[in-house]
Amino acid sequence: MVHIEIILPIFNELKNIPVLLERLDLIKKELKSEVSMSYLFINDGSTDGSTELLTSLHRSRSDIRVVHLLHNFGHGPALACGVENFQGDLALFMDADLQDPPEAIPEMFAAWKKGAKTVVAERSSRSEKNKILFNTFYYLLHKVAPTLPPVNFGTHCLLDASVIDRIKVLKEKNRYFPGLVGFTSSKIEAVPIHRLERHEGKSRVGLRGLINLAITAFLSFSSTPVRLVSVIGLVCSIIALTSGIVFVIVKIFTDLAIPGWASTMSALAFGSGIQLLCLGIIGEYIARIYDEVKQRPLYLVDTILENPVNKTLSKEDAIFVPRIINF
Ligand code: UDP
Ligand code: MG
Repeated sequence: MVHIEIILPIFNELKNIPVLLERLDLIKKELKSEVSMSYLFINDGSTDGSTELLTSLHRSRSDIRVVHLLHNFGHGPALACGVENFQGDLALFMDADLQDPPEAIPEMFAAWKKGAKTVVAERSSRSEKNKILFNTFYYLLHKVAPTLPPVNFGTHCLLDASVIDRIKVLKEKNRYFPGLVGFTSSKIEAVPIHRLERHEGKSRVGLRGLINLAITAFLSFSSTPVRLVSVIGLVCSIIALTSGIVFVIVKIFTDLAIPGWASTMSALAFGSGIQLLCLGIIGEYIARIYDEVKQRPLYLVDTILENPVNKTLSKEDAIFVPRIINF
């Protein structure tokens, strides 16, 4: 019997957890002849009652494990915690807001049975507000980062334990999860899904988080941004040199006065704007290098609520196992 552990990062999903579990339990029933399924919730510092709900779910069910993080670390670190604490043959990552349909799991599992080690849910259509923005992001990213898998997916994927072992080796702090999955997989099988709006509430990652993730994706899987800086610098130097030569020729051979203040100022402003832009791009790299050298753990664990069945411990023994992970 194959064991699938469903890994769910949670940040204030009180209203979504019961609906999600209900839908996942139906899939569990559907697959029960060939699959045993359990849940690993990574509670990323929720403050809306999700913490209490998860703790009580763990008490009443033997197929639920919970890692309570010390406070909110972000979606990426919560996924890294899922990778580190996973137990099973197959890991199924998905968001808890029902944007990733649980109903795709049987098809993903069928692809694994046919031999695929990495199966991702490809967002072939979306009914989200920022659809155009997302599609432009994926288009540009795949243009500049040819090593990334040409598949439009987020975190909804089914990974063989061998792939998880490879991801565990990657210790980078600025993590673009689909990129890490692509890097550690020889082949990616895609199952098309329609991505819906989140079931309840507003995005927990938010626009700022998404922009940050997009910058991480570009900077960690492509050197195009920093090369762009050199290209912009080169183009500006060529323009400056050519116009300098033209001005000298005009001055020597004609009586025409050099055009005045306004054009000089606009050229100056344009030049300094470009310089600041380039400095900003280089600054992004430096900020990320700083993050890496600090060697700070990606997340800190408060408590782990283990599954007594897995651990052969009494439930009381298994409830609080604090530990710090130096990722
Ligand atoms: N999440 C998390 N920590 C955070 C933000 C989000 O664990 O700091 C979880 C969230 O509860 C959800 C998943 O990550 O299960 C994806 O979050 P969200 O739906 O906000 O992302 P979006 O779909 O807007 O990109
Ligand atoms: Mg979402």
